[in-house]
Amino acid sequence: MARDFPTSKQEIRDRIFKAGVVGAGGAGFPTHIKAAAAADTVIANACECEPLLGTDRHVLTSRLDEMIDGLLIMMLATGAGRGYVALREGQADVLGRVGDGVKGARGVEVVTVADMYPAGDEHILVYEATERVIPGGGIPPDVGVVVSNANTLVNVKRAVDGEPVTDRVISICGDVIHPCVVEVPVGTTVGEALDLTGNRSGLDDKGMLLSGIMMGQYCEDLTTPIDKRVGSIAVLPRDSEIMVRKSLPVDVMVRRAASVCCQCTQCTELCPRHLMGHDISPHKIMRAISWGREYVPDLAGALFCSGCGLCGVYVCPMLLSPDRISFMVRAQMGERGVRQEGEPAGDVLPVRAGRLVPHARIVERTGLRPHEHDLEFAGRVEPRQVRIPLTQHVGVPATPVVKEGNIVRRGQVVGEMDREAVGARVHASIDGMVVELDNVVVVEKQ
Ligand code: SF4
Ligand code: SF4
Repeated sequence: MARDFPTSKQEIRDRIFKAGVVGAGGAGFPTHIKAAAAADTVIANACECEPLLGTDRHVLTSRLDEMIDGLLIMMLATGAGRGYVALREGQADVLGRVGDGVKGARGVEVVTVADMYPAGDEHILVYEATERVIPGGGIPPDVGVVVSNANTLVNVKRAVDGEPVTDRVISICGDVIHPCVVEVPVGTTVGEALDLTGNRSGLDDKGMLLSGIMMGQYCEDLTTPIDKRVGSIAVLPRDSEIMVRKSLPVDVMVRRAASVCCQCTQCTELCPRHLMGHDISPHKIMRAISWGREYVPDLAGALFCSGCGLCGVYVCPMLLSPDRISFMVRAQMGERGVRQEGEPAGDVLPVRAGRLVPHARIVERTGLRPHEHDLEFAGRVEPRQVRIPLTQHVGVPATPVVKEGNIVRRGQVVGEMDREAVGARVHASIDGMVVELDNVVVVEKQ
């Protein structure tokens, strides 16, 4: 397989920056900054441990060569001599294909990790793939590793070829008529994506979760745009246990915690970050918050929460959401300027191996089994209008460089970013006219 990439690390980073590539796995960290890290190993994260999704699977079956090229490019940029394509053991159906795909890709091999949730969490994945432990509050480059989502790596390959990020592959899953994987222009609204795939009916009694069922955010607003970070729309009945847990206002959840959290400690015993030896005990966070404490050491553990959702969606027998409360506490600490201090790597708990939660058990216990399908690719949808956020990444918002009434072409820069700032450029995802501009650039086909 002939692979002709730029050899200059700076040139690679510049092209990634120009194309506006950000982490497609949900976090939205600017990829040109990640590409500037020094590492000996790059991991393509294709574990897709969230239930029901088929987004990474689509990449592995239809965009595999681009993903492997993206991995090789990130290896060049970071100086890494080794690349892993990480799969879960449960993805046996694509294993042979991916194994064939990496033949000829120098330094790249496939690594399979345990079929558990959250296999795709960077801390967990790095440990499973390399046996290195990232300290609590740390990031993979602290141990010489860079992790990029499979979709991000496709975008890296395209960026090096001069193509900006204008499209997003998402899964539409759950209680819908036509579960599928579909490509949408960035900024397509949730409502249009459901409409154009024949999935909009019956929404009165259903709610939506964006970017996963475990980690996903509850969404009621059909005009919410699908940005570069959103990998799925899951639709579930409003009265399902998951939706009730996800949709309850967090202040109500705090009051419930005060009255019904029985301090059973199960949330802590199964917390993946606690099991990695990080200083987080969600049952203590629940205790402190329900006693109305504003800041005590027990709450500080929230800084090490990954937001994986396991404690809230799967574990808590009282239907509480330690995950959402931990995230609320973490946000409040952020507002007060409390930051994660890099702590020395802890010891992985000896009981960890026996407490891993298999992917299939989550699907069963949460009642998702009837909605589990192999999602077929439904092509690209063409919305009439897109709402492109100027913030769809970690960091500062992009600065608009178009005005209402301007005609724009797909791929044109509509939001510029200072090269030294943390953030990413934003591009038009369809041809059309800018009809509205505030914190989103609304482009309408003419
Ligand atoms: S699992 Fe639920 S009830 Fe038990 S300690 Fe955690 S939040 Fe409280
Ligand atoms: S969401 Fe819950 S289980 Fe996951 S890391 Fe945070 S506290 Fe632990």
